[in-house]
Parts: sequence; C-alpha cells; structure tokens
Amino acid sequence: MALLQISEPGQITAPHQHKLAIGIDLGTTNSLVATVQSGESRVLKDENNKAILPSVVHCGKDNKLTVGCDACPYAKTDPTNTIISVKRFMGLSYKEVKTFKNCPYTLVENGNNVQFHTAMGDLSAVEISSTILTSLKQRAEKALGGDLVGAVITVPAYFNDAQRQATKDAATLAGLTVLRLLNEPTAAAVAYGLESGEEGIHAVYDLGGGTFDISILSFQKGVFKVLATGGDSTLGGDDFDQLIIDDCIEMLKLGELTPTQMQKIKQFARTAKETLSDHEFAEFNCVEAPYCITREKFESLSKALIKRTLLLTKRAARDAEIEMREIKDIVMVGGSTRMPLVRGMVGDLFGKPVLCTINPDEVVAKGAAIQANLLAGNKSQEDMLLLDVLPLSLGLETMGGLVEKVVHRNTTIPIARAQEFTTFKDGQTAMSVHVLQGERELVKDCRSLGKFELRGIPPMVAGNARIRVEFQVDADGLLSVSAIEETSGVKADVTIKPSYGLSDSEMEQMLKDSILFAKDDIESRQLHETQVEADRTLEAIDSALAKDANMLDQVMIDAILQARAELASVAKDNNEKVIQDKIDNLEAVSAKFVEMRMNSSIAQAMKGHNVDEFSN
Ligand code: AMP
Repeated sequence: MALLQISEPGQITAPHQHKLAIGIDLGTTNSLVATVQSGESRVLKDENNKAILPSVVHCGKDNKLTVGCDACPYAKTDPTNTIISVKRFMGLSYKEVKTFKNCPYTLVENGNNVQFHTAMGDLSAVEISSTILTSLKQRAEKALGGDLVGAVITVPAYFNDAQRQATKDAATLAGLTVLRLLNEPTAAAVAYGLESGEEGIHAVYDLGGGTFDISILSFQKGVFKVLATGGDSTLGGDDFDQLIIDDCIEMLKLGELTPTQMQKIKQFARTAKETLSDHEFAEFNCVEAPYCITREKFESLSKALIKRTLLLTKRAARDAEIEMREIKDIVMVGGSTRMPLVRGMVGDLFGKPVLCTINPDEVVAKGAAIQANLLAGNKSQEDMLLLDVLPLSLGLETMGGLVEKVVHRNTTIPIARAQEFTTFKDGQTAMSVHVLQGERELVKDCRSLGKFELRGIPPMVAGNARIRVEFQVDADGLLSVSAIEETSGVKADVTIKPSYGLSDSEMEQMLKDSILFAKDDIESRQLHETQVEADRTLEAIDSALAKDANMLDQVMIDAILQARAELASVAKDNNEKVIQDKIDNLEAVSAKFVEMRMNSSIAQAMKGHNVDEFSN
C-alpha cells in the first residue's frame, strides 16, 4: 500500500512547489544569507563551514576580484584597492563621503555619484555591494540546488530613500529579484516570532562593532511597524576595545607605540573583551609585558558606554510616545550584545530579561529568510504585512522659503498623502514643486530631494486654482510625488530617486537641530508668513486698482496709495509686528473699495436675472 503523505504544519501541501527564497543581511562589517528549510530558518555556510562573509572586497590587478575572508588580508597589504564597510558609502554623494575620516581610498567624482578608483577601474558603492550579494547568491544557489525566486534584503531602519534605492540597485546588478527591503530591527523581531505572539510593543537593541541602533516596534492586528528609531553611528564594540587598550597602556606605562604594536594591541584587546563575556579574567602579552584584566574591572570601565546606549533607548521610547514599561520584549542584535553587562543593564532598564537565545549575528538574516519564504508564497497562512516608518518628514516649498510638511517623520509607510495648494498670482500658469526632507521650518535648513514643474494651469485669479499634490512612499521607503490641477486635470509627476543621500550622523544632526532651533524656527516661520501675506496684499491691491480705480475719487486713491507705499517700504523688514500693522492699515483704508468692488461684481452677476433665482 502506498504511504499517505502528510505536509508539515504551516507549509503548503505540494512540496515540489517550494520556491527557493533567501534572506540577506547586508551588513557594514559582515554579511550573511539564510533560508527557511523544513519550516526552520537557518544560515547558509560556505565551503569552509563559515556563515559570516566579511563585507570586504578586493579589486586587484588583472580584474582579479576577491570577496569575503580571502579579501581581508588585502586590507593591510593593498588598502587602496580593498573596500571595507562599503555600506557606509551607499547612496551618498562625493561631497558627503569626502568628509569621511581615515578613508584610504582614492575617490572619484562622477556627477552626483562617487566611485572608488581601483586597479579594476572606477567602481561605485552599488557595484562593490553587488559583488558581496553575488557571492551570497552563489552560495545559496549551491546550497539549495536551484534557481532563487528572490531575496529579502535588510537595511537599517534609518536608511533614506537614496540608500534604499542603492541597495536595491546592487541586488538587481547581482541578478537577484528583490522581494522586499526589510528594516533590520523588524527582521530581528520576526526571527523571534514576535508576530505569532500577542499584540504589543517591542524594542530591538542592536550593538555591533561600530554602531548602535535602537528601534521601537509595535505589533498590532497582524502588522509590524517601526514606531521610532535612534542610535549612535559612532558607538560600538570598538569603543569597548578602546577601554582595554587605554587601560593596558596606563597599567604597563607604555610610551609611544609603533603602528604595528598598536595594531597588535587592538587585536589582543578585542580578543580579551570577547573572552571576558565567558570568563572572569583575560590576559595577553603586550610589548613584552604581561597584561591582565578582570571582568569586574572591564565592567566598571564599560558602564559609561552602556549608559549612553540606555539614554538613547529612553529617547527613542519618548519619540515613540510610549512608557518603558509598555515594552514587552527586548530583542538583542549584534555581536556586542554578548557582553553580560550589556544584557544585564538593558534588562534592568526595561525591568525584564532580554531575548538573546538566537545568535545575535544571525538573527537579522534569519528574520529576512522567514519574510522571504512568506513572500515567495511558501506559507499558506495569510501574509504578514511588515510596515516601517519614515525617518524624516517630507514636505514642499511654499511662498517665502517655507516648508509645508506633507508626511510627518515616523509616519508608517507605505503611505499616500495629498495636500491642496493654490496659486500666488493672478493668471499664474505654472508652479514649481520643490520636494524637501527634514524637520526644520525653512527651505534652507532642509534637504532638497527634487524639483519639478506643473505647467499649463489655466489662468485664474490668485488662490482659485486647486493643485493637489500627492506623496506616495512605497513599502521600501521610495517616494513618488504627483501634482494635478483639479479644475483642468493638468498633471505632472516625478519619482524621487535622488542620486545621493544623508549619512545617519547627518540625519541625527538634522533631528537635533530641529529641536535646538524650534523656537527660532517658529519665529522665523511667523515672520516669513507675514512677509508673504504682505506681498499677497500688495499684489491684490495692485490688481484691484488696475481694474477698478475708476470707482474711486482721488482722495480715496491717494489714501490707498499712501497705505500701500507704507506697507511696501516695510514688507521685507525683519519686524513682524510692523509689517502686520501696515497690512492691517492698508486693509482698513481699502475696506470701502473692497466693498464697492464686491457690490459691483454681484450686480454684474445678477444682470438679466431675477432676484428670486438667487434666493435659495
Ligand atoms: P557585529 O558588527 O554585530 O558583527 O559585532 C561585532 C562586534 O561584536 C565586535 O566589536 C566584536 O568584538 C563583538 N563581539 C563578538 N563576540 C563578542 C563576545 N563574545 N563578547 C563581546 N563582544 C563580542
């Protein structure tokens, strides 16, 4: 008798239909690839049984490309041709990367983009990243024995649209179909199956080698969304290594060290730090002298650094408008969360133990694999939608150099939001739509994402045109903007695909500035608005006089012209109150004129009609 086949819980019934999909954690230092097999997510290893692929690419002579572990030694012997941490360059312009410190590469400006000058020619960050992705793709194809339907690739939650687009471009170049870009913290939460638990709020604490990221996620009605993100792009495991280096130099009273000696101490310090996660003390021989450090001492040195991460965590919770006690789970990500004191202090802050059972290096790739498996259609259950938030507000330039925010920071994406604008001048037939990103009130303090023009607006009186501008941000955080004049249907649109973006430290600076300058910003916004109002009033009175001055006697004309001249003389001043007084004065002086014009236009409209026609 033939055996009856029973499918696995949660899997589709036809095993031969299982589509091969992968999750990729494209990290700054290391990258990993994972997949779901037999309902379990697991990382895929290379032929040397290594899961981690260092994100290092050597572009050698004779077009010899080396990626991963084999490329690492070149970082010392051939640094200008060995690209490490390429992720930091993704989606940035030449101007932005030029400020990077200790950058050993020869960078070449190519339009808005930047390229690395290597022995293999000038290569962009997208091209370099695509070689890492190709390596992981090949590893997956070999391990899984077939063609992949696609990949979910993770990106930091704070990546802007240019950085996300660059990541997508790199994947496409590597021949991968991107099923979805997924925020790293969201992937980590998925790896812990938080979506199969109760609804609630979770925190993802990610302390890696050089960066710290904190994200607050909510899970409600089967939907994950990132409520807020924060962190410090210059705080990570390297700073803990430095504590040991400094202590060693002090204890052994070491003088000036050669670069080779310094390199060695760095290596020793890192190993000692990692040893202290499992042992009570660590030792090494430094410049011919023995050095020993206990866990107790290391922890007393580390406290200040960990406290900094806790402050940033509290700030993110504040941003998300939640209390610490509302957070149900704390997911630990990144190699540095192996330190017991980190786990302890973070647990104390939240008043509960942290989640750290999944290898903190693999948790993001595993979550991405689970999402890829779902998007590839291998799960019969309803799709789990994963939503993210916008890191910075998006808006438009309005008169007077002001920014009108259309989609606010931390709004859940995907999102479509529209706002109506109108024309400033009588007979205006074109409008420039300037899209900006940032939290500040003035255009000059925000970042320009793109400009386009809406032409062919039928000439109308100022304020009568109805221009609906719609912002759409897709699930990957990419923005498209369209503008339509509703009475005529004239349309223009643009997909904002800026060729460069912001570094996370700049983004942080923009947020800090928005808080720091909040009062100044409100004051300058009020001033700008009053200046625009003055221009609008002058424009309106000129237009009315040009048409209907014949209704007035000379005394009235002189009075209006006098008030007009007084307003015109202060309209550009920085004193909001004076401008407002002169606007009020001109309006008062011309009130009678306005009334006469209104009566005349009503009489005009009623000509030939019976009054009864207008009465209901
Ligand atoms: P990541 O960027 O997530 O790969 O994290 C790398 C950082 O994790 C480096 O600073 C490592 O020294 C650190 N790390 C790895 N393992 C341990 C450990 N057992 N204890 C403390 N730090 C560790």
